[in-house]
Amino acid sequence: MLFGLPFVCYALIASCNPKGCSLDPRSWHSPLDFVPTSKGGGSTFLVSFAAMVAWFAAQAALHLLLPGPLIEGVLLPTGKKLKYKLTGFKNLLVTLAVALTLGLRENPSTKEPWLALCYDYYVPLLTASLAFSTLLSVALYAASFRGGGNGGRGKEGKKAKTTKKAQLLASHGTTGCAVYDFFMGRELNPRFSFSTFDWKEFCELYPGLIGWVVLDLGCAAKQWSVNSKMGSGGGSFGLFSSLLLSFSPKASPSTSTPLVPNLFSSSGNLSASLLLVCLFHAAYVADALWHERAILTTMDITTDGFGFMLVFGDLTWVPFTYSLQARYLVDYPNQLSKFAIAFILMLNIGAYAVFRGSNSQKDAFRRDPSDPSVRHLKTLQTRTGRKLLVSGWWGVARHINYCGDWLLGWSWCLPCGFGHAVPYFYVAYFAGLLLHRDRRDGKSCAAKYGADWEKYCRIVRWRIVPFVY
Ligand code: NDP
Repeated sequence: MLFGLPFVCYALIASCNPKGCSLDPRSWHSPLDFVPTSKGGGSTFLVSFAAMVAWFAAQAALHLLLPGPLIEGVLLPTGKKLKYKLTGFKNLLVTLAVALTLGLRENPSTKEPWLALCYDYYVPLLTASLAFSTLLSVALYAASFRGGGNGGRGKEGKKAKTTKKAQLLASHGTTGCAVYDFFMGRELNPRFSFSTFDWKEFCELYPGLIGWVVLDLGCAAKQWSVNSKMGSGGGSFGLFSSLLLSFSPKASPSTSTPLVPNLFSSSGNLSASLLLVCLFHAAYVADALWHERAILTTMDITTDGFGFMLVFGDLTWVPFTYSLQARYLVDYPNQLSKFAIAFILMLNIGAYAVFRGSNSQKDAFRRDPSDPSVRHLKTLQTRTGRKLLVSGWWGVARHINYCGDWLLGWSWCLPCGFGHAVPYFYVAYFAGLLLHRDRRDGKSCAAKYGADWEKYCRIVRWRIVPFVY
């Protein structure tokens, strides 16, 4: 996993790039072929690394400076609750405002919007992100040995003398096998003692997710500049107005000018397929950041240590594999019919309704079972004192939220058409992730609720997809 996951990131570039797109490794191209050479190979990586550090620092600075509510997390084994400052949605808005103003200005050396550099430097940026993730994981691993551990919960904690400020260790990341612990993460909530800045919560939602949206925008800027004549009124206003006009009912093929995208053609400034992918991804990220407090009760925050698995997943895997469809559409523009656009839009909206409806319903129920939005739902009383929903979304399937999430993934992949299989990597990978997560959660609920969970499974028969699985 330590080497396999980074390999997949590069394999996706080797298998699908401007020179070809294929599942057959014999026809792949070296990712090095797509490293810009104009400024010298070595310095390209250094500049990209500097950009990555600046990006991380900028997101952290915004997070620290912007106002946001201080919300308590779950009760920790120490009997305390940590406070988290939540500014994710504001970070996104500020970043988008900067990207859509400064980032769309013309870069004098390339005659393209600055943002298009995200596409041009995709491989060095991926490498920089991988290097950054590895360094951060090493630093977190080393830092986890400071203090005395968690006072008897991890193996180390048993031996260590516990101090008042001793850090809490994750049980999965304290096996004593250094490589395994490095991968899983030793410390549960790495923080500076003087600040509410939480490394794990920050990395889970800020630089990676917002970086994904910016990479997408970079791909859109690249396609726009390739398809447009920058000299004829391009620049920042040109692309910005193009984006706005995409939604205008007047933007029809018959009225289009070089600055107005033709939504139904792959030869417009910005194709409908790429526009849909960018909007869908941005909406997904905006949704996650709008509901930021929901992450405080997820396994990632409450149970998993912050090691290479999460650091790499958050900072490298998510932005650089989830933006695959946008990168693909720059290299292989796909023309969508009006019918296809309507179908994909409906799929996205329907999938979002399932995804958001189910997640919000459980969230509301867990926060306050007497909330007017959930108090009419049927429940199963368990011996732990907690109730399980057996009607509403959670009566349809035990993980109906995964079903909605997976269908959302389909709406991101379908704009790529059926010319190549590689852009469908996301739905294949995500199906595996969700199946594994469903099993893992099922086991933990069975351990938590015992016979009551079996009863619940008999009432709600389907795991993820009603009448199928
Ligand atoms: P879930 O939202 O599925 O929560 C599972 C927990 O909900 C269980 O452990 C249980 O905890 C509670 N629960 C289960 N059944 C019921 C019920 N009938 N009534 C009330 N509570 C119930 O957890 P995840 O973190 O796996 O998923 C959250 C969302 O994040 C999903 O939509 C998922 O698709 C998405 N996700 C996206 C990823 C991505 O990369 N895009 C990666 C991972 C997740 P308890 O009873 O203790 O409250």
